[in-house]
Amino acid sequence: MKDPPFKPIHGRCECESVSYEVRAPAEELYHCHCSRCRRLHGTLFATYAYVLRSDIVITKGTENISIYRSPLAHWYFCRTCGCHLLAEHDHSPGVMWYMPATLEDAAVPQHPKESEKHIFVASKSPIETISDDIPQYDEYAPPEVSITARKTDGAA
Ligand SMILES: [Zn+2]
Ligand SMILES: [Zn+2]
Repeated sequence: MKDPPFKPIHGRCECESVSYEVRAPAEELYHCHCSRCRRLHGTLFATYAYVLRSDIVITKGTENISIYRSPLAHWYFCRTCGCHLLAEHDHSPGVMWYMPATLEDAAVPQHPKESEKHIFVASKSPIETISDDIPQYDEYAPPEVSITARKTDGAA
């Protein structure tokens, strides 16, 4: 059975300099509690969704984006307000990560419900309490790379 067509969803930074459009449902949703994500975002954890790179388009403010290269990823953020919008991870070639927290109009990533995970829980901040039933992993969740490979093969 064919899935119904996906209606594009939109996100933007706080100062409205940069906007993006997502043209496919997310493959997975992660809440990452590692110290790197906490510092990048200034939050106790960071939430990521991802789609094929071709399914995400920067619709406004490309010239206002700065890119920070960390040991494992490129981070795209608004150089005016500092809002993190997109990321490319070395472990996931061909896909673009985005921050669902920046979606507009109560849009949601529409990921498969069972794909939602907490990762790097072993390094979470001592002041954080996780109080939901979503699966938790001490570090990476195992399927991350294989699902990316399957999706990329399927699209060729
Ligand atoms: Zn901004
Ligand atoms: Zn992290």
